[in-house]
Amino acid sequence: MTTSAQIEQKNEHSDLHCPNERFDVLVIGAGIGGLTAGVLLARKGHRVCVLESHDKVGGLASSWERRIGEKKFVFSAGVQDISGFGPGGTFENLLSQSPFRSEIRWLQTSQRHIGTSGVFDISGNVENLLSLLAEKFPGDAGGMRAFFAEMTRLLHLRRREGLKSMSHEPPVNLDENSEKTSAIPQLFQEPYLMFLRRFVKNPLLEDLLTNICNYLTDSPALLSLGNAVPLHAYHLEGGFYPAGGIRKLADLLAREIEFRGGIVLCRTTADKILPPANDAAEILVGANGRFFRTRAVIANRNVSGTFRNFLPTMALPLVFRKRLFSRVPGPSAVLMNMACEGVFDIPEHTFVRDGTRVFALANPSRHDNSLAPPGHSAMSAIKLLSHEESVRWLALDGDAYREKKTCFTKAFIRDVETSFPQLRGHILHVETATPRTFLRFCQVPYGMIYGHAFGTWSPLTHSPVKWLFFAGADTNLGPGVEAVAISGYQAARSVNEFLSA
Ligand SMILES: Cc1cc2nc3c(=O)[nH]c(=O)nc-3n(C[C@H](O)[C@H](O)[C@H](O)COP(=O)(O)OP(=O)(O)OC[C@H]3O[C@@H](n4cnc5c(N)ncnc54)[C@H](O)[C@@H]3O)c2cc1C
Repeated sequence: MTTSAQIEQKNEHSDLHCPNERFDVLVIGAGIGGLTAGVLLARKGHRVCVLESHDKVGGLASSWERRIGEKKFVFSAGVQDISGFGPGGTFENLLSQSPFRSEIRWLQTSQRHIGTSGVFDISGNVENLLSLLAEKFPGDAGGMRAFFAEMTRLLHLRRREGLKSMSHEPPVNLDENSEKTSAIPQLFQEPYLMFLRRFVKNPLLEDLLTNICNYLTDSPALLSLGNAVPLHAYHLEGGFYPAGGIRKLADLLAREIEFRGGIVLCRTTADKILPPANDAAEILVGANGRFFRTRAVIANRNVSGTFRNFLPTMALPLVFRKRLFSRVPGPSAVLMNMACEGVFDIPEHTFVRDGTRVFALANPSRHDNSLAPPGHSAMSAIKLLSHEESVRWLALDGDAYREKKTCFTKAFIRDVETSFPQLRGHILHVETATPRTFLRFCQVPYGMIYGHAFGTWSPLTHSPVKWLFFAGADTNLGPGVEAVAISGYQAARSVNEFLSA
């Protein structure tokens, strides 16, 4: 008996009123992974329904307006720039078929890295970066050129071999016969630091090229080469940001789903999945007291939580269950959204790793004056927290929590002002998100902002249950807006095959 069949037997469908909403696929969660899958399936003519708990789409890639006195600012859940806009890149590909593509104005971002090795500006032009590095580290000039040539080759290799799990250029023909599991060559599993050391001798240069990994993890030593290659896409092709706030991307995807006959329901939390009874093809998904009939489900949310909350996990294969529930949690973060007086000549994204000060500062107002009133800026600063630190935050309640949040915010502002003295006295208002905020608003266990820790097993986008698929940062594609979009491609391809079988 298959796993699906075991799960199917548990559903009696007995006490339900007759639901009348029928879909081909129901997506739980309107993060970028879920919306990408929804758009691709809607383009194939499938009827799609997306349920989202929040009042806005986008999940961790969302943004909202905040009024401070008479002034309006656009704050963000964190995302500051997105990769995947190079030729044949994920978003170039995804948006090229959108009827609304011209409604987003994409702005190229620049990154600055401040560390023990000095200050480096990166603008997506690798030749400029190589000249800068050669000037500062002449002994490693040849090694650097070879390193970036190898990174470029690896990006192409992923394309050629269709390594969707790390690709930043997905194969995107939904009709293509897709392999369900990406075969990851041994090379991509090599630790990133080991790979880097083959090219780089100077420890300061190693420090710089590891600094970019702080984007994804508090433990760069755990990153594999496969995890690190997409990060270097920012060096090779640059990062991009939608004018008006990061939610523009999610809004555009949601709009296309509805344009193609689907629906996207916000403020609607899926709280039940009733598997097909016996041989019936329909699954029922309960949300806010309603039921939706569907033939397939894509969960754009935590995989372990989905099984634990919605389905009998005992029916899962033992190896899968063991792996799923023994994963090591990844980092959470403290994020400060700041309304500032003044417009500052600070790059859109700066990574600071200077002694004990380790954080990233985003200044999207530098290139997007729609985020704040004239003469003002919307900025944000983020500090990653290890899992242990996150657990300590989550253990606090009431006054103890508020006190810690206030103290942390004050100390964090001091760090920001030490590294960027021009901001001193110009920060008008701060809104701080902690692991509790991420847990509550994004429903991610421990407030993990990037899914589980690198170096541990991650589930694929298809599951042992034949009608259940996953998209998002908790899959083997990993975190980052581009990566979760690729997971959406993989999930959509599998669902399309399943529905067409
Ligand atoms: C502070 C921060 C900074 C970041 N910076 C960057 C960056 O600069 N560049 C980059 O590429 N990436 C960045 N990331 C990572 C990136 O934002 C995420 O990896 C990506 O957005 C996750 O997308 P997802 O598809 O996994 O879904 P999520 O964004 O996790 O969305 C899942 C959605 O599902 C909904 N949901 C969950 N359960 C239910 C339910 N039962 N019913 C209905 N809805 C449900 C949630 O409300 C949520 O909206 C950052 C993340 C954070 C937090």
